[in-house]
Amino acid sequence: IAAITAAGLMLAACGSAEKSVDQQTGSTEGALVGVTMPTRSSERWIHDGDNIKKALEEKGYKVDLQYAENDIPTQANQIENQITKGAKLLIVASIDGTAITSQLQQAQDANIPVIAYDRLLRNTDSVDYYATFDNFKVGVQQATSLLTGLKVLNADGTPGTATGPLNVELFAGSPDDNNATFFFNGAMSVLQPHIDKGTLVVKSGQTDFKTVAILRWDPATAQKRMEDLLTSSYGGAQVHGVLSPYDGLSIGILSALKSSGYGTGGNPYPIVTGQDAEVASVKSIIGGEQYSTIYKDTRELAATTVKMADAVLKGGKPEVNNEKDYDNGKKVVPSYLLESVIVDKGNYQKVLVDSGYYTADQLK
Ligand code: BGC
Repeated sequence: IAAITAAGLMLAACGSAEKSVDQQTGSTEGALVGVTMPTRSSERWIHDGDNIKKALEEKGYKVDLQYAENDIPTQANQIENQITKGAKLLIVASIDGTAITSQLQQAQDANIPVIAYDRLLRNTDSVDYYATFDNFKVGVQQATSLLTGLKVLNADGTPGTATGPLNVELFAGSPDDNNATFFFNGAMSVLQPHIDKGTLVVKSGQTDFKTVAILRWDPATAQKRMEDLLTSSYGGAQVHGVLSPYDGLSIGILSALKSSGYGTGGNPYPIVTGQDAEVASVKSIIGGEQYSTIYKDTRELAATTVKMADAVLKGGKPEVNNEKDYDNGKKVVPSYLLESVIVDKGNYQKVLVDSGYYTADQLK
């Protein structure tokens, strides 16, 4: 492996001598950009990859777009290959934000800038910029919509009619994804005061990030955890709400609830949140199952990232709007944060269809 890596590095070095941004003209025409995405198992990443590729190609770049199906060694190999092929810049949406440090170091050694896409690359100096959404705020929005659904809050944020006690359970995303902590902390900043007051009760007692986190955002793991919670903590009791950080998990959670008799015979589903506005979940929202999701316009994230990449490749400084929140353990990574939107049955048409993100037909 060492020999292969060394050969790869030599090739990379030759590649950069040959194909780097043209020293005389400064032209970036035809430069290769390596894009690595975590998985095709969630449709958001497919949109992200497609949108980035298209926008880069429109600017005249060549693109190597790879998906790793949530397998870390595969993603590590893909990045090494891109370096070997002479990529001039890497855009990385990681699986585990700390697991590809040596590949990123190789990129840095070959003077290849790296942009972290959506998920922060952690414990490394070898990351130049970060493009993402305001992840803490995503969590705040998830918790806010949970409270609105439970009628603890009105839509305008004033206290609602429900005073509890209401039973809720909490789920978080993958512990190796930096975003998961931001989402959870954002959500808990809103929920904790209501838990402290007794308006919300977590019957399982599981409120700690590590206990509620779902490795690799796996829907089946979330389903199993929900089934276990129903068995262990809800003998005759009703679940009123579930904080779910991602639509895929929400689907797993809803199927556990369904098997346990929710959603039929006057036994409504609890308020279940989500994230990404994936088609299946938007349909579920329209059908009155999932309560809400958080819409993150991946077209905007792709466009922002490509703008960043283009500026870096042309030797300029990209625009950032946050230089304090994303300390990756080695450096504070200059970031551009986008805004997300709460979507429920009341506004999906306006936010998702009228904006052209989905056609009405896709949601039928
Ligand atoms: C992304 C979310 C997504 C989750 C699971 C996170 O890093 O920010 O949009 O729901 O990964 O794919």
